[in-house]
Amino acid sequence: MPMAISPERPRTGVTRFTGGRLVRGNELVEEDLWISSVTGKILHSQQVFYEHHIVPDEVVDLKGKILCPGFVDVQFNGAFGFDFSTIPDDMATYHKGLKRLNRHLVRTGVTSYLPTLPSQKPEVYHNALPYLGPSGAARNPLEGSESLGAHCEGPFISPSKNGIHSPEVLQTAPNGFPDFEACYGPENLPYLGSGLRSPISMITAAPEVPGVSAAIPQIAQLGIRSSIGHTEATFEEASAAIHAGATMITHLFNAMRPLHHRNPGIFGVLGKAEGKDRPYFGIISDGIHLHPTTVKIAWNAYPEGFILVTDAMKTVGLPDGVYDWTNGDRWVKKGPLLTREGTDKIAGSSATLIECVNNFWTWSNATIPQVIGAVTGTPARMLGIEKVKGTLSPDGDADLLVLDAHEDGEGGKRLKVEQVWKFGTLVHEEGRDAVGV
Ligand SMILES: [Zn+2]
Repeated sequence: MPMAISPERPRTGVTRFTGGRLVRGNELVEEDLWISSVTGKILHSQQVFYEHHIVPDEVVDLKGKILCPGFVDVQFNGAFGFDFSTIPDDMATYHKGLKRLNRHLVRTGVTSYLPTLPSQKPEVYHNALPYLGPSGAARNPLEGSESLGAHCEGPFISPSKNGIHSPEVLQTAPNGFPDFEACYGPENLPYLGSGLRSPISMITAAPEVPGVSAAIPQIAQLGIRSSIGHTEATFEEASAAIHAGATMITHLFNAMRPLHHRNPGIFGVLGKAEGKDRPYFGIISDGIHLHPTTVKIAWNAYPEGFILVTDAMKTVGLPDGVYDWTNGDRWVKKGPLLTREGTDKIAGSSATLIECVNNFWTWSNATIPQVIGAVTGTPARMLGIEKVKGTLSPDGDADLLVLDAHEDGEGGKRLKVEQVWKFGTLVHEEGRDAVGV
């Protein structure tokens, strides 16, 4: 689709998209979009064209296709054979695996994500976290997908809602925040005013586990998102955690006390009247974790908080079979189903985010901008980075997708990722092996 206009003219690094439909908030609008591969940003179209008379290097004719921000996955444990929690003898191997994963992942349309570590022994955090912090500083599109900081899911969670988290590594925090520091490593939770940024962007914990509620305000103060998950919390305990500073629910419905008509549990907090009392929440719409109707109920309860996540494991993109995991556990992968060996416990998903997006679009009455918002603008707002990620507004990062939208004639609705742009550079195009990455 991209075509050079004139090879002789000095290059500006500017690309203009035209003839497409742009996702802006809850609308699809027919507008041009101008981006720069020099700054990696979306440009102020009016200024570029009318004031500076900049001529783009390339004009991309979208031919009616959709242009939207790159997808953000806030719960992603690994894929393509790489697992953030598996620490090899040699950390150079880990670093290499991570870089390879980022180059693969970007091609699926996920341009940024939170590398997620389910409950582990402290040494795993100490080893892995220094590699998993925000990676976008160099703004190099050839690096592929970008970490927005780690998501530590556990180990301060309920032993009765552990899912596939190994019970032996679970912890309580009788001393509150200092126990979090000891577990993740004090260097990974730098104190406020140190000028250092934590490599952690989100912590999932169970508010009823001793010491967790007391630690939530300190976690929030550091700018780390506090999420409620893997928990027996009652409606009252969940409400108190939100009051203390928790702003998210990890994979709503899975690994938590279900709704009861006399105790609505965590789901009940979505029924609160005030927006600030209602947290964001992750939903795994892989077709296995939740019934389609359950997904629709959550969407209708509070669309502004609805975030699609994959909870993907390293088996995404690998053949069926038995796989070793951390802490001596093994998994069985059969199609999209992933279980802990010898049990029927669901062990994360083998789905990609675009598959979850398509399931949600098929099952719900959500419009295309709403469906895309659940993997772009909403997770970006949850993370407090809505001006740079998950947006097509000027000064936002030019992480973009070109999507083809169609209905398959059997009731299915499909979005297909045709192009991926990272920091203003085309890094993947459907049907071509490697463009830039
Ligand atoms: Zn989980």
